[in-house]
Amino acid sequence: MSFSMNAPAQGVAPGPESYTSLAKPLVLVVEDEAAIATMLRYNLEKSGFRVDEAADGQEAITRIAEAQPDLVLLDWMLPVMSGIEVCRQIRRRPATRELPVIMVTARTEDQDAVRGLNTGADDYITKPFNMDALLARIRALLRRSNNVPSKGRLSFHDIDMDLTSHRVQRNGRAVHLGPTEFRLLEFFLQHPRRVFAREELLDAVWGPDIHVEPRTVDVHIRRLRKSINQGDELDVVRTVRAAGYALDTELL
Ligand code: CA
Repeated sequence: MSFSMNAPAQGVAPGPESYTSLAKPLVLVVEDEAAIATMLRYNLEKSGFRVDEAADGQEAITRIAEAQPDLVLLDWMLPVMSGIEVCRQIRRRPATRELPVIMVTARTEDQDAVRGLNTGADDYITKPFNMDALLARIRALLRRSNNVPSKGRLSFHDIDMDLTSHRVQRNGRAVHLGPTEFRLLEFFLQHPRRVFAREELLDAVWGPDIHVEPRTVDVHIRRLRKSINQGDELDVVRTVRAAGYALDTELL
């Protein structure tokens, strides 16, 4: 790729902490097909984003550490290191645990997409994709990961969410959540014990303009459960068959 390591940073320094609505978000495009990378760069820049590129998985890891993007657009099939492995590494490292990742897959098998989400991606899109749809998802994900209210605290049972520091604790222990799981838990904490259908959760957490499969919700609920319920702790996410989910301590 033609990315120059010496390119001067434009405007505010990149990185999730320093991102404000005034700064142009930095998107790392991880793509080994030059034509697709060029097309993505062109469209993203035209839409107000800054773009960094990596042509293989190893380069992606290096660019994430050096350039601290606000979001990663990650191709599934990559040389050197697969997109799945890149995503695993992003989630393993505390500094990038909450970095928004959209997986781009040429595979049409739903199983693979779900596998991508299970690996830690926040969203996925299948090639060939519609650029407007991709831009909508990028914006929604950035909104979710940066939309931190100026103050406030939400609590339920032994779960505590500090909206200022974006920290979640359960019984005094730190709980690490991805951006989607955080928004999901925030929404549940705002409406404890109320049952929400998958479609309602999609509208509230993903946004009404985002078209994702209702079972995407199941994937993120699974991930939320895995993070907040540890050991023999009570599962506070109640599944209501044929109805949806609720944050509740009474599980029946
Ligand atoms: Ca590829």
